[in-house]
Amino acid sequence: MKKLFTPIRIGKLEIPNRIVMPAMHLNYTMGGEVSDQIIDFYDERADGGAGLIIIGGCAIDKAGGSPLFVGLDEERFAPGLKRLTESIHRHESRVFAQLYQAGRYSFSFLTGQSAVAPSPIPSSFTRETPRELEADEIRAVVDAFGAAAERAKRTGFDGVEILASAGYLICQFLSPLTNKREDDYGGSYENRMRFPLEVIQAVREAVGESFPVLIRVAGNDFMPGSNTTDEIKTFCRTYEEAGVDGINVTGGWHETKVPQLTYTVPQAGFVYLAHRIKRAVGVPVIASNRINDPDLAEAILNQRRADLVAIGRALIADPMFPRKAAEEREEEIAPCIGCNQGCFDAVFQGKPVGCLVNARAGREKEMAIEPASHPRRILVAGAGPAGMEFARVAAMRGHQVQVHEKGGELGGQFTTGCTLREKWEFHNLIEYLDTQLGLLDVDVNLFSEVDDELVERETPDIVVVATGARPRTLDIPISDNAKVVTPSEVLRGEVEVGDTVAIIGGGAVGCDVALHLAREGAIDAETAYFLLDSEAETPETIRELIRDGGRKITIIEMLDRAGNGIGKTTRWVVLQDLRRRGVEILTEATAREIEGKEVMVETPEGRLAVPADTVIMAVGTESENQLCRSLEGKGVEIICIGDAIEPRNALEAISESMQAAIKV
Ligand code: SF4
Repeated sequence: MKKLFTPIRIGKLEIPNRIVMPAMHLNYTMGGEVSDQIIDFYDERADGGAGLIIIGGCAIDKAGGSPLFVGLDEERFAPGLKRLTESIHRHESRVFAQLYQAGRYSFSFLTGQSAVAPSPIPSSFTRETPRELEADEIRAVVDAFGAAAERAKRTGFDGVEILASAGYLICQFLSPLTNKREDDYGGSYENRMRFPLEVIQAVREAVGESFPVLIRVAGNDFMPGSNTTDEIKTFCRTYEEAGVDGINVTGGWHETKVPQLTYTVPQAGFVYLAHRIKRAVGVPVIASNRINDPDLAEAILNQRRADLVAIGRALIADPMFPRKAAEEREEEIAPCIGCNQGCFDAVFQGKPVGCLVNARAGREKEMAIEPASHPRRILVAGAGPAGMEFARVAAMRGHQVQVHEKGGELGGQFTTGCTLREKWEFHNLIEYLDTQLGLLDVDVNLFSEVDDELVERETPDIVVVATGARPRTLDIPISDNAKVVTPSEVLRGEVEVGDTVAIIGGGAVGCDVALHLAREGAIDAETAYFLLDSEAETPETIRELIRDGGRKITIIEMLDRAGNGIGKTTRWVVLQDLRRRGVEILTEATAREIEGKEVMVETPEGRLAVPADTVIMAVGTESENQLCRSLEGKGVEIICIGDAIEPRNALEAISESMQAAIKV
């Protein structure tokens, strides 16, 4: 039996397997009240077999919470909380509440009051400066942790988790960066530890000896001048002595410049933090961040790097992940691709969490996939994600579906867009959809274009036009000796690219192409590892070799910033990567002409010539939907989806496809 599916105890409580769904902000609970939406969401995850579900963050008070999160700070929330725990307990899963106080990471526009913290240090995360807590206010926050824990126990939670990670209030007390106090709560190690230890004590007193208490810690703050794993190991030993039953280890603070959750973070990239802490303590340790594959999770446990694994977004993408993994149906798991588009980007926009891969996330009832009342013959033109998703859902409902793709591979533009090395997991989505279409007996035809003749021959009831979009071009003078290519030609390796490159358009595609080209010529990860491990080059030289591919690349962007179209949680990472690789970004710059090996550009500072032996036109796409017009009046129902309606991102395209497929 796989270790992933063996039980484990946290304190005295048995957890049926090693899969933990960590606390995630979902924005499903307006005003703090448990809603049907959050109950339905977790009901499916419990049904799918997650061993432990941690709900949260659950606000323990108003100043450090958010009205969009689950409230644990008022008695009026108790009936809803009870409904939630009862719903999860209909399955085998255990459920904990995460006790959340954000300190200087609270947004005053959400809470209606000033954020509080050990010291009034401005936060680059909220762009606010918190108010310093008075000593009696610290006592009140400690008491609020205790009261929230007691309420959690009374409303049916099996345990609680104290949030002491990501730069939230407890981290702020622990860090010399944010704790400048000169009283009993600042300065020495003992003083900085006083607040977390008082919280642990208050929680323990509120819930009793046998109730499980976890603590979630930053394995390394990843903030210059703040706590590293060395200090945090000591904190964890002290937490253990103070009576916590397990330690959940994540990465660094929200303000860190080290990416934490983007697709650029290697799978399981922060497990080493859990491993280091595990070697310092005796209680169970949970590893977190970018664990999205059952074999990987199993390997982490077998290598004794952690005792449990936190699988968060992968359970948003597929609530049945544990069950499918237990039944050795791994290839049927809808993969989390680390895009953040539906989940974390939504959180930061104050929207309910969804998922690019799973449009049902957060809409479990509304988007239930029911058998069709009248099965029909459906012909889908185009095998991009939108067409494939439509085909999958329609086939699940009992429709007879054919997919025709005029090219030789599945995935359309989405596949081309995933050429960037870090985006390799995006291909998993296409592979998953391909597997699903196979299991559902969908007839998939490559090199097959839908036209009048095919429609006449197959006599479908419905033709779904999912033919995507084609690259746009700029209407500017281009000399005959200029070399102008499309992003897709570059990413597919169909054209030779010179040493001096101008990319017109600094949106998501322009940035991806720039990174792709900047990397060519730089050393790869394996070489970097070898050089570092064998001490062949200095770390500084290796960093230079990783970043310098030898090309001069300039992005020309009309707007006042590049990276438009990339979600907030990923955009800063992409721009940071471009900067580190020396890519020049001209903003408020308009390409006026391409003459030989120069692009003439207009900027607020005047006209300039950008050298370019290769110019890449990344100025967007336009819909490819000629088929809709050619089928009009032919007696067949036409449904147009995805980019074929109008160019949009994959999140919208897949969601709309599923909605359309649910209706037919
Ligand atoms: Fe994963 Fe993207 Fe879905 Fe978020 S939106 S859960 S990152 S696939």
